[in-house]
Amino acid sequence: MMVLQEIINNYRATGELSHEEIVFLLGLEKPDEVGGLLALANEVREKHLGPDVHLRGIIEFSNHCVRRCVYCGLCYGNRELKRYRMHPYEILDTAAGAVEMGFRTIVLQSGEDFHYTNDMIACLVAAVKKMGAAVTLSLGDRPQAAYTSWKAAGADRYLLKFETSDTLLYRQLHPESTLARRLKNLTYLRDLGYQLGSGNMVGLPGQTITSLANDILLMKELSLDMAGIGPFLPHPATPLGKARAGTMEMTLKVLAVTRLLLPRTHLPATTALGSVQEDGRRAGLLAGANVLMLNLTPVKYRALYDIYPAKAEATSKPQQLKEEAEKLVDELGRRVSSGYGHAVKIEYQ
Ligand code: SAH
Repeated sequence: MMVLQEIINNYRATGELSHEEIVFLLGLEKPDEVGGLLALANEVREKHLGPDVHLRGIIEFSNHCVRRCVYCGLCYGNRELKRYRMHPYEILDTAAGAVEMGFRTIVLQSGEDFHYTNDMIACLVAAVKKMGAAVTLSLGDRPQAAYTSWKAAGADRYLLKFETSDTLLYRQLHPESTLARRLKNLTYLRDLGYQLGSGNMVGLPGQTITSLANDILLMKELSLDMAGIGPFLPHPATPLGKARAGTMEMTLKVLAVTRLLLPRTHLPATTALGSVQEDGRRAGLLAGANVLMLNLTPVKYRALYDIYPAKAEATSKPQQLKEEAEKLVDELGRRVSSGYGHAVKIEYQ
């Protein structure tokens, strides 16, 4: 029989956890044991990354999507959703406002929308870089030529979640694609020199603790610079509309164990975590997370970037979101980083 204390002692000595041990940790349910796991993750975060919390500003510039991911409200089949596209100038105005407010990373995210050509995206990247911000792109699976040209234009990071490491489940959730393709793209992005972001969803229908343990080991194997871990939230206009949502508790456990195995990877307290429960992001920051992504999409579009319902920060203005984030960070006795928040290996080169 496995004993919690033994696993923790062993982890402290080696920095390692076996698959079996991860499964055991994710299965913890007693509040004091779960609390101990989250506190350990918080300690590891403090030791390796200190009190810095990085704020990223995300602009969701289009909700058009050619894909049919069965959990996502933006999926092609959802005819109820009003679609929007931000004009490139509007994107740049929004980015400029964010940089002026002090954001040092701009994340550009959208559905898979080929209306924006590779050259258009490359121009956007170059223009935002010129403003003095780091650029993260999160535009899904794209041809390798696109990834190459955006890197050449100055993009620093790419966020492409593998969502689940279970091949079969991946296939069920993404009818037109395969896990192998995602992983190939992740390898390609890494080889191009992007700082690599990926991650999973927690509580997907059919997902087991064993499968979540595999997700964590995959994040380690990919030696991610950033890992986004958020609860699955059922969207009523999708085939999974009636499924049960992922819980905050399990998401925090996955986040914490990921922190143990990836001590220097940037881990956001995700918007999805803040949506499943009001204090979700605070809890995330206390369970290993060191990043907050704030939604800078103009308010008139924000509700339309409807990947899941009841998204946190649906109507607050950027300035207000930033102040709230700063207050939260302050309350936790942490500090908002003034740097770019690049991958740690780059920051300390
Ligand atoms: N098209 C881009 C961005 C997708 S949206 C891409 O493919 O990478 C960004 C993330 O939102 C996804 O990676 C997924 O993890 C998350 N997401 C989408 N629908 C969700 C849902 N119903 N519940 C929770 N997270 C969801």
